[in-house]
Amino acid sequence: MKIGIDRFDARLARSVIVLAIDTRIVILGAGFGGLELATSLSEELGDSVEVTLIDKNDAFVFGYSKLDVMFGRTTPAAVRLAYRDIEKPGVRFLQETITAIDPQARRVTTDAGVHEAEVLVVALGADYDLEATPGLAEAGNEFYSVAGAERLAGILPTFTHGRAIVGICGAPFKCPPAPSETALLLHDYLSARGVRADCEISFVIPFGSPVPPSPETSRALVAAFAERDIEFVPGRRVSSLDGARGVVVLDDGSEMPYDLFLGVPKHRAPDVVAASGMIEDTCVPVDPKTLETRFPGVYAIGDVAATGVPKAGVFAEGPARVVAASLIADLRGGERPSAYDGRGSCYIEFGSGRVGRVDVDFLSGPTPTGAFQEPSSALVTEKQHFGSSRRARWFGG
Ligand SMILES: Cc1cc2nc3c(=O)[nH]c(=O)nc-3n(C[C@H](O)[C@H](O)[C@H](O)COP(=O)(O)OP(=O)(O)OC[C@H]3O[C@@H](n4cnc5c(N)ncnc54)[C@H](O)[C@@H]3O)c2cc1C
Repeated sequence: MKIGIDRFDARLARSVIVLAIDTRIVILGAGFGGLELATSLSEELGDSVEVTLIDKNDAFVFGYSKLDVMFGRTTPAAVRLAYRDIEKPGVRFLQETITAIDPQARRVTTDAGVHEAEVLVVALGADYDLEATPGLAEAGNEFYSVAGAERLAGILPTFTHGRAIVGICGAPFKCPPAPSETALLLHDYLSARGVRADCEISFVIPFGSPVPPSPETSRALVAAFAERDIEFVPGRRVSSLDGARGVVVLDDGSEMPYDLFLGVPKHRAPDVVAASGMIEDTCVPVDPKTLETRFPGVYAIGDVAATGVPKAGVFAEGPARVVAASLIADLRGGERPSAYDGRGSCYIEFGSGRVGRVDVDFLSGPTPTGAFQEPSSALVTEKQHFGSSRRARWFGG
């Protein structure tokens, strides 16, 4: 099928798609956003459309599973959800590495060939830029990748005394509460090993509070740090590490001695997206209500897209559902869904076997808001259900 559109006109793009009965939808990235989109399309449209889901990896791992791996609560093998288990009408998974994206032509090149599409959805997430923080790779550790978490699972048992710093090297970063969770879980981990009294924990974050849209959540986290004797250093970013002198350098030039560094690396767009000419600054600009890019028939969702919401799984699956509903409406000739509302709930590990929850709303009011639910064991069960329900929905079984 050929679509001849020379300039940006999303309404024209939509009307062409409505007419198509053989639409090819190519989803780039099988992470939180891509998996939800492929599932939603398959549920409604079955094999009446051709959905191709491409990822370079052979398995998906939930972001929060990295903390479980790092603290030895599980193994990397146990948290891998293999893409080969995806069996959905109309959906074909391809394990290929995307090497070029032509948004104008809606053409994607991979290490295995070329894919043409009527609809392209970019859901390639955010990559890490370790080089942006001198010393991080050589004298520190990152815990935001599976490999980094796995490495730390080997290092943490050897840490018996001295100062551990949990620090952030650049904002925005994925799952804003995750570094706070890490500081609290590190306290539990060292306590269980009987070495907490010989260790200090400091937490450095560039924001003025741990979860800025929710003062209530931030207050609860700051109180939890104080109860556990975790030093909280707000409003500061880690700019480099000097391993020879054993100091972390902050963005105001001040220094903190350290023995173990657990870092969140600076994030950046995947190289292939940066090279496509789609990004401004570090993300793909989109209409936050519809997730359309300026290229007709091309959408961007999740961490790669500039939607005005944080980088988090819940903020990737919401847009995925909106894009799915729009495509379904276009294909069936129905009404498009209401705009993406920027709402989502994030679970926060407080340690001691309790989980809290913050329900955030980024787009419906003049400023973001976040309602907090106190940590409880009931929310531990709810968080488990959050993971298991998505696992069943996306992978079956
Ligand atoms: C420690 C930690 C804890 C977290 N906890 C939570 C939480 O509790 N709740 C929550 O909602 N979110 C959490 N997150 C954030 C969440 O994991 C991400 O925000 C979410 O996965 C983003 O979804 P996405 O679809 O945009 O990208 P991703 O899920 O990152 O998917 C992008 C996909 O693109 C693929 N890809 C990239 N480049 C290429 C290429 N060139 N070729 C082929 N494939 C490619 C990748 O392999 C990947 O599978 C956490 C993250 C971390 C690091």
